[in-house]
Amino acid sequence: MIDLNRRNLMLAGSALAAGAAAFPLRAAEPQRKLGYAIVGLGGYGLGVIIPEFKNCRHSKLVALVSGDAAKAKRVAAEYDVPEKNIYNYENFDRIRDNPDIDIVYVCLPVSMHAEYTIRAAKAGKHVLCEKPMAVSSAECESMIAACRQAGKKLMIGYRCHFEPTNLEARRRARAGEIGKLRYFRSEHGFTFGNPNAWRLKKAMSGGGSMMDIGIYALNAARYMTGEEPVAVYAQETTDRKDPRFREVEDMIGFQLEFPSGVIGSCQSMYSANQNHILLVGDKGRIEMEPATAYRGNRLWVGSGRGEEITPPPGPGATQFAGQLDHMAQCVMEDRTPIVAGEEGLRDMRIIEAIYQSAREKKRIVLKA
Ligand code: NAD
Repeated sequence: MIDLNRRNLMLAGSALAAGAAAFPLRAAEPQRKLGYAIVGLGGYGLGVIIPEFKNCRHSKLVALVSGDAAKAKRVAAEYDVPEKNIYNYENFDRIRDNPDIDIVYVCLPVSMHAEYTIRAAKAGKHVLCEKPMAVSSAECESMIAACRQAGKKLMIGYRCHFEPTNLEARRRARAGEIGKLRYFRSEHGFTFGNPNAWRLKKAMSGGGSMMDIGIYALNAARYMTGEEPVAVYAQETTDRKDPRFREVEDMIGFQLEFPSGVIGSCQSMYSANQNHILLVGDKGRIEMEPATAYRGNRLWVGSGRGEEITPPPGPGATQFAGQLDHMAQCVMEDRTPIVAGEEGLRDMRIIEAIYQSAREKKRIVLKA
C-alpha cells in the first residue's frame, strides 16, 4: 500500500519549503477501508472475528447475515452496523444491491461454505471463506470456478499464515537454521464435549477431527516445508460406541511423504488436547507449543527448549486483523491472496486421500 498519509505530509512539507501558496494544504486523505459482511454469528464469526475489526487498518464491519434476527439486531447495535445492512439466509442475495459490502466472510458450518461462497460471488462480492474450504474437493472446485467466473477474489481463512510465531518458524526453517530438514511432526486435537454439535454430523462437517483441527497440522506441514506431499498413509482409531463418534472419526494419524525425502508425521484427534509442531533438521530443531492457538504461541530454536524466541511483529496487530487486511489489500491492489481458494482445494484433496488411505489401509500416491 502507498502510505498516503506520509506522502501527503511530504508533499505538504515541500510546498511549504517553496513558499508555494498556490498549493493549498489538504488534510491527509484517509485510506479507504473495505466493508465486510459476516455470515454466521457463531463462536468464530461473532466470538473471534467481529471484535477484530477494531485492530484493522483496511477493513471494517458493515453488514451481518444471520438466521436469528434478534441476535443480529443486538450485534448490529453493539458494532454500529446500520439495520439496513442486516440480512438473513433467505434475502442474502440482496447484498448485490449494497455497495457498502465489498467482501463476504463465510463463518458457517462447512456444508454451507460452498453455497454461500457461490451466492456471494454471483452477487458480485469477494469472498473470504473459513477452513476447511468445503466438504469435498468437488465443492472446492465449484467455489473457485464461481469466483473466477464472477471476477471476484477467493481466500480461505488460514489465519496461521498471518501469525508471527508461525512466520518466524518458517523463516528460520527456510533460512537453514536447523540444517537440512529431516522430518516434520505435528499433533492437533481437542477434547470434544457436545455430541449434538454440527461438527459431529458428517453431512454438515464433511468429516471429524481431520477436517476441523487436523487440517492445521496438514497445512503447516506444507507451509513449513514449502513442499507438496507426493503420498500419504493414514490410520484411524475411533471408538464407534462413543456417542460423539457415530458419524465422524476421532483420531487419525497420517504420514506425508515429501519430494525431498522429508517425512511429515501428524496426529489429529477429538479426544485429547494437543497443539504442537516440531521440525527436526540435521543441525537442530524448531518447536512450537502451542503452535496454532489464537494467542500465546511459543517458539524454541536450537537443540531443545533452551532458547525461546520472541518473533518480530506479524503483518497485522493480530493474526486475525492481518488476515482481514490482507484480503482487503488484495482486493484494492488486484493481487491474489496468499491463501487463495486453490490452497483450500489442495488441502481438501490431501484430506480425501488421507480418508481413502485409512479406509483401504494402503499408501495413496497423490496426483501432482
Ligand atoms: P458455530 O456453531 O459456533 O457457529 C456456526 C454459525 O452458523 C452459527 O451462528 C449458526 O447459527 C449458523 N448456522 C446457520 N445455519 C446453521 C445450521 N443449519 N446448523 C448449524 N449452524 C448454523 O461454529 P464456528 O465455530 O463459529 O465455526 C464456523 C466456521 O468457522 C467453520 O467453518 C469452522 O471450521 C470455522 N472456524 C475456524 C476457526 C479458525 O481458527 N480459523 C476457528 C473456529 C471455527
